[in-house]
This record gives sequence, C-alpha cells and structure tokens, in this order.
Amino acid sequence: MILPPSMGRYTGRHRAARPPVRLGRALGARSRLLPGATVAALVVAGGGAAAIEIGRTVTGLAQRAPAGAALALSVEERVVLHAEETAEDAQVADLAARRQAAAMEASALQGRAEATQRAAREAKRTAAVAAARAQKEAAATAARTKAAEARARAAAKRQRDARRWTRPIGRWNITSGYGPRWGRTHDGLDVGAPTGTPLHAMSRGTVIMAGAVAGLGNKVEIRYWDGTVSWYGHLSRIDVRRGQTVVPGQLVGAVGNTGNSFGSHLHLEIHPTGGDDPVDPYPWLKRMGLLG
Ligand SMILES: [Zn+2]
Repeated sequence: MILPPSMGRYTGRHRAARPPVRLGRALGARSRLLPGATVAALVVAGGGAAAIEIGRTVTGLAQRAPAGAALALSVEERVVLHAEETAEDAQVADLAARRQAAAMEASALQGRAEATQRAAREAKRTAAVAAARAQKEAAATAARTKAAEARARAAAKRQRDARRWTRPIGRWNITSGYGPRWGRTHDGLDVGAPTGTPLHAMSRGTVIMAGAVAGLGNKVEIRYWDGTVSWYGHLSRIDVRRGQTVVPGQLVGAVGNTGNSFGSHLHLEIHPTGGDDPVDPYPWLKRMGLLG
C-alpha cells in the first residue's frame, strides 16, 4: 500500500504524548544485539550504578537510546509497548485504507455530479434549440398568414376595381333623351361633344362588336361582367376590336359624326339583359352613380 506523504510516519498526539514509546522502539530494535538474558539481568539489577554503566554500553550500541530511562522498562512494558506499536501500525493502515476508500468515493461522487451537470447542460441546450425552432416556426407562420391576408386584400381590391363602374364620357351634355322622337322611338341618349372626345368602357367586359353599321355609323358594343350591354354610336375612331377584354375606364374610341348624325355626338344605348332590349339610359346611369 502506498501512503500519502503525511501518512508515511505516524505523528499523532498519542505517540507524542508517550515519549517512552520512542525509547522503547529504540531499545526494542536494538535488543537483538543483546541476548535476552543480559537484558533480563540488567532489569533485575535495578537502578544502581552498575545498571547505569551497562546502560552506557547499551547507549553506545543503540546510539539514540538515552541512559537510564530505557533501561527502566520491564519485559512486560516492552511487550505492551510492542503491542501498542503493532496496534498503531494497524490503525495507520486502517486509516490509510479508509482515507483511500473515502477518496475513491469522493471521486465517484464528483464523477456523478459532473455527469449530472453535463446532462443538465445538454438538456438546457436542447431546450434552447427547441425554443429557437418554435420561435422561428411561429414567425414563419405569422409571415405566411400576413402574406395570405395581403394577397386576399389585393384580390378583393382587384375584384372591386374590376367591377367598378365609370362614366363613358367626361362631360354630360345631353342633347336628346330616350323616347319618342320624330314619329319613332329614340332608343338611347345623345351626348354632344367635339369630335375626338375620348370614350371609355364603363366597367370590365368584352367587346362583342366593333365596326361600321348603317344608321349608327362606327359602333362599339361591350358586354360587361354583370351581363349589361352598352352601345356607343357615331364614333370617329374605334380603338378596340371584337373579342377584346376591357377594364373600367379603358379607352375604346372617340366621339364622331358617322352614320345618320347631324353634328358630332355620342349615341349611348343600354341593354340590361344583353338582348335587343334598350332602356332609358338616364335612370340607369343615375342608379349606377355615373351622372354626377
Ligand atoms: Zn342618338
């Protein structure tokens, strides 16, 4: 067994409190130099001068053994001292063993504590990673939701924009209304305007006719998204073609004086169901908020 430096020599208070033990050890160790009978004789002789003399001789042999004191030990005392030393050696060994066992146990405890700390650190890291991932996913979800809402708003706005209604001409200068005129029915509204005045689609729709006809001259028919059909007549110019899709306010042509017309004007008809079923455009325009 390898003992720590502090364990190499017993310096406890037990031995320090018993100086005779050291003397006994010295005498005991050197006692091999003296036959047992001689020692016995010395002891029997008692504390006289002869004993002192022989003690000096023993001192010379034992070097460290002081005179008198060592020689005062009896055989029984030496046996007791030897037993005590043996017991002390055993105690030293036992103490060393227990200290080593305690050290090993402390080391094991430290190892377990370190393992626990490592596990705690790992758990903390794992939790942090999970939290960061959850936060990231939440942010991504929020961003997706926000983008979807923006798309929905944009789509709704596009639909509102596509379905809005706008006036066909910039200024309402009504020169002739819907109804009987010159012995027959005037199926539309006449709006006086200089030749070349821009004309616009009133909402989103499809051009279903674009070209010259008898009577109304250059004509554009548009079917809007709700089924209503508008006719524009006497145009000086046509800017769309049949089948073309138009959006609210899109330029489709210009005011003119073509066909049976006396003076530059727009002839406007409204056919609510898309058939040849003209109605008075005025109340219709008013209902659509286009007369203001
Ligand atoms: Zn007319």
